[in-house]
Amino acid sequence: MASLDRHARPLGSLRVSVTDRCNLRCSYCLPEGSQVWLPKTEIATLEELASLVRAMTLVGTSRVRITGGEPLLRRNLPTLVGELAGIPAIQDLSMTSNAVLLPDLARPLRSAGLGRLTISIDTLQASRYALNTRRDSHAELLAGILAAEEAGFTPLKLNTVVLRGMNDDELAAILRFAKERGHQARFIEYMDVGGALDWDPKLVVPQAEILQRLESDYGPIEALASGDRAPANLFALPDGTVFGIIASVTAPFCGACDRARLTADGKLFTCLYAADGLDLLTPLRAGAALEEVAALVDNRWRNRDDQGAQDRLAVPTRGPSAQARELRAKPHLGMHTKGG
Ligand code: SAM
Repeated sequence: MASLDRHARPLGSLRVSVTDRCNLRCSYCLPEGSQVWLPKTEIATLEELASLVRAMTLVGTSRVRITGGEPLLRRNLPTLVGELAGIPAIQDLSMTSNAVLLPDLARPLRSAGLGRLTISIDTLQASRYALNTRRDSHAELLAGILAAEEAGFTPLKLNTVVLRGMNDDELAAILRFAKERGHQARFIEYMDVGGALDWDPKLVVPQAEILQRLESDYGPIEALASGDRAPANLFALPDGTVFGIIASVTAPFCGACDRARLTADGKLFTCLYAADGLDLLTPLRAGAALEEVAALVDNRWRNRDDQGAQDRLAVPTRGPSAQARELRAKPHLGMHTKGG
């Protein structure tokens, strides 16, 4: 039986950030001078992470997404995937990655039992990518997409965070790229979380505008019924091509959020905007049985009241949710730590 929180939301899905490190420096996530990495000594081993996930399945988790930071930087990741794929309660095992290291890892991950893959692709232009990520790896990203296709991960989900003035002129092109390769594009409204230090409402391209722009290229767009707990609103082009929009800023889906987050140092967060997490690694290291860890999770979930994105809607003059000095003092505020 899944635990229910104070708004009767069940615990269903879990994002596991296997590392807070990243090989890119996206301007809206890891801007210069903002990040403090978690101390290496505090990072949970793969065995410990697998145990914590196992404990969470005892209180309802059935869908697990591996993320980071960049998850592919975590050594022996296929071993963890194999462990998680072997847990019967996990019905859906997926990963979000920037794909740069996929040419070497796509096949081992597939063989280990990874079910689905989401790849972040904010731009199709190499020079723009280099400017935004401060790394010259666009060719590796494209090679990573190819490797994922060859390893059998089609259809991929291709995530694009839309920032006005950065990539909002590429919506139609990214959708075409996804469509031609048989993948599903998902456009994400730019959120005021973590390292989004330059966040400004003016930089957000709202769902309504994304749709309007795509309609001017592709013709009338039809809204589709979306899954109850899925964050993306689904739409179809006149030719039937389906794509998604994650409208966390203009239409938050907190009411349906069944998602917990586990950080690489074993802390449980119950909202992307939450400031504090519950330490599960210390009790595990002290010898707590999985049922005891599960009881801690259950207690935290039953008291869960978070609806961070909804609360942010009510802030009258909205700006970044954290400043650089706060991120340096509290690395868990970062999206790369909590797991995007
Ligand atoms: N490194 C992996 C990747 O690039 O997909 C996984 C971690 S990354 C934090 C996960 C997703 O969060 C990416 O698609 C990234 O673009 C998105 N993201 C980061 N900061 C964001 C923000 N402020 N608003 C919306 N999405 C954001």
